[in-house]
Amino acid sequence: MRKIKTHYFARFLPLIFLYNIISLPVKPSSELAAWSFRSNGVLELRTRKNSNLKAYFQKANKLYGDRFWVDFNGELLNPRTIKGNGPVKEIRLGKPVRGTTRLVIEFAPQKSINPYQLKLIGVDENKWKIKLTSFPLNSFKTMKEGNVSKSSVASPKRKDLRGLRDINLRILDLPNIRRNKYSVVIDPGHGGLDSGAVGIDGLKETDVVLDVSKIVTKLLLEKGVSVKMTRNKEVDLDLSPRVALANKTKSDIFVSIHANASRGKKRSINGIETFYYSGWRGRLLAEKIQKEILKVSPGSPDRGVRKGGYFVIKRTNMPAVLAEIGFVTGRLDARRLENKIHRRRVAFAIAKGILEYLKRVG
Ligand SMILES: [Zn+2]
Repeated sequence: MRKIKTHYFARFLPLIFLYNIISLPVKPSSELAAWSFRSNGVLELRTRKNSNLKAYFQKANKLYGDRFWVDFNGELLNPRTIKGNGPVKEIRLGKPVRGTTRLVIEFAPQKSINPYQLKLIGVDENKWKIKLTSFPLNSFKTMKEGNVSKSSVASPKRKDLRGLRDINLRILDLPNIRRNKYSVVIDPGHGGLDSGAVGIDGLKETDVVLDVSKIVTKLLLEKGVSVKMTRNKEVDLDLSPRVALANKTKSDIFVSIHANASRGKKRSINGIETFYYSGWRGRLLAEKIQKEILKVSPGSPDRGVRKGGYFVIKRTNMPAVLAEIGFVTGRLDARRLENKIHRRRVAFAIAKGILEYLKRVG
């Protein structure tokens, strides 16, 4: 982003920063596969699966009108400019720096865009959407390249192998803390007859969170943390014994892991949120975990760190959080949560958040 930083005279607003902890091999070609800027002001993008996009907005200055742009990994072959129409001055595809593709939408000088309304949303593993303007329908002609609705087909076998390799690499990426000093309770939500939320294609919250919790536990153990799970199989477990275990063992922190469901099972609702009950420690722990889960869930909206009065985080005597790792009812989240590799990534994210908290607070 060197180029952007030199534009001191202009105000710019980074809308979304999505980094991936996993260092993927350098890709020779652009992650952008197709785009369409429709006459209702909605920009749709198709990318490689699980791409990490960065979107920016810059107000008009002497040289340019209001501009919105998205950066993709990988270089496109032919930089080009597509002449706009109506309120759209032009759309440019370029490579601002080596290894990056940039899609710029520049508006006509008199058209002012409100950047605070902009939010780039992942609607599927390879599809993105952002409403750029509130123009009346058909106020300009749709501009596009390629087919944005084509779905990507990946070979699951190859993907699985790549995932395993990521995991092995990433154990080394987890922060080191003093061994045999800390104790943590991991609480997989629900269990047994209580399956929690049931989502797309019968995806059950209890299965997802148990798998993730087991991996979190394993990772923390490897880092020298003493870990207790409130359950490690499909059993019914009331809320009180979960709290009692944490309070009795004087655990340093308590982390409850859940997956979300939206009312009416709306597939368009996805996102990550982490709750704490009180105190700066609880809040900090929630922030660390939330941030890490978002990193491995590109496009899934950040629903934020929030105060919540859930029994397990209210009644525990130590910093306690409840993480909602995605919606089993959401199209984007459910596809991921049913994928073992993604669950491992989420587990890594949670373990990383916990370790960073312990490192900081001690
Ligand atoms: Zn739950």
